[in-house]
Amino acid sequence: MLLAALLLCGCSGQASAPEPTAPPVKRSGVGFYFDTVVTVTLYGGEESLLDEIWAECARYENLLSKTIAGSDVDRINKAGGEPVQVDPETWAILQRAREISRTTGGAFAVTIAPMTAMWDFTGGTNRMPTEEQRLAALPLVNDEAIVLGDNYTVTLPAGMEIDLGGIAKGYIADQVAKMVQGRVSGAVLSLGGNVYVLGAKPDGSTYNVGIQDPDGGSGSVLAVVNTTDRSVVTSGIYERQFTLDGVTYHHILDPVDGLPSRSDLSSATIVSQSSMDADALATACIVLGREKALAMMAEQGIEGVLITRDRQVYKHQTSDTFQLNMLVDIPVQ
Ligand code: ADP
Ligand code: MG
Repeated sequence: MLLAALLLCGCSGQASAPEPTAPPVKRSGVGFYFDTVVTVTLYGGEESLLDEIWAECARYENLLSKTIAGSDVDRINKAGGEPVQVDPETWAILQRAREISRTTGGAFAVTIAPMTAMWDFTGGTNRMPTEEQRLAALPLVNDEAIVLGDNYTVTLPAGMEIDLGGIAKGYIADQVAKMVQGRVSGAVLSLGGNVYVLGAKPDGSTYNVGIQDPDGGSGSVLAVVNTTDRSVVTSGIYERQFTLDGVTYHHILDPVDGLPSRSDLSSATIVSQSSMDADALATACIVLGREKALAMMAEQGIEGVLITRDRQVYKHQTSDTFQLNMLVDIPVQ
C-alpha cells in the first residue's frame, strides 16, 4: 500500500562458497503500524524474534503516534505550553529532529503538525486549508521553539504541535535493526518507505532495494540500490496525494508556506547507517529541491539518489557501500 521502496529478490553482490551447513530458516511477517505496512524477513534467529519485533513496533506506536491518546506526542501537543516529561527515546528523537531541522535550513520541521492537520492526504476527504488557515499556521512551525529541558522534559509554546511522521519510522527501523543484529544472519526490515537491510541472504549475496518510478505507479521500479548493513529510505511526492479541480496535492509540505513542496524533485532516496537521519533527510531533500539538496548532501557527506520531476537522476556517493543500478535508460548525473 505505502511501500515506496520495494524489495527485489534478484541476486547480485558477492557470491560466497557453498555452505556445508543447512541454510538459515527464513521467517517473514507483515504488520500494520504507524499507518504503514511493516514487513520483516529474517534469515536465522530464534522463532520468537518476530513477536519481539511486533511488540517493539506497538510500543513505539503508543509512544510516538500523534493520533493515540496519551502517547508522548499527544501529551506534548495538548500541554498548552506546560512542560511534559517524556520517554528518553522521545526526547532523543526530538533532539535529533531539531538538529536536522537546523542542518536543512528548516526544510525539515517536526513542528509541521499545524500544517499537516489542515490537509487530509489519507482519510479520503481531500481536505485542504483555506488561505486564512494556512497563513495562521505559518508562525506555529518552528523547530527552534522546542525546549528540551532536564529530566526529559519537553515544552512547546501553546498552539504549536509536533508530527513525527517524517522521522519516527526511521528511528524505529534503527531500533529494530539493533535488536536483530547479531541474532540473525540476514534481515530485511521495511517500514513504508524505510528499508533496513542487514547481513546477507542465505546465498551470501547482498540486497537489492528498489527505488519506485515516481511516474510509474506502485510496483514499478526505476532503479535498485544494492547494499547491506544500511538503510535505504525513499520519500516521494507520489506517496500520499489527492487531486482537486485538476491540481494534485501531496503530503510533503514546505514549512515556509504550508503548501505541498513545489520543488523540482519527485523522489529522494538516502542511503545511511542511520535510518532516522535518512528518513528526515529524504523528506527535507524533497522540500529543498535538487540544487540545495545536492549541496546539503555534499556538505554533510550524505549519500543518495534524487529524481527530478522531469525524470533526471542525480547521485551523490562518497563510499563503496552501495551500488546504484538503473533499470531504465536514464543516465545518472
Ligand atoms: P512517508 O511517511 O510517506 O514515508 P516521509 O518520510 O517523506 O513520507 O514523511 C512525510 C510525513 O512527514 C508527512 O506525512 C507528514 O506527517 C510529515 N511531514 C510533511 N512535511 C514535512 C516537513 N517538511 N518536515 C517534517 N515532516 C514533514
Ligand atoms: Mg521521511
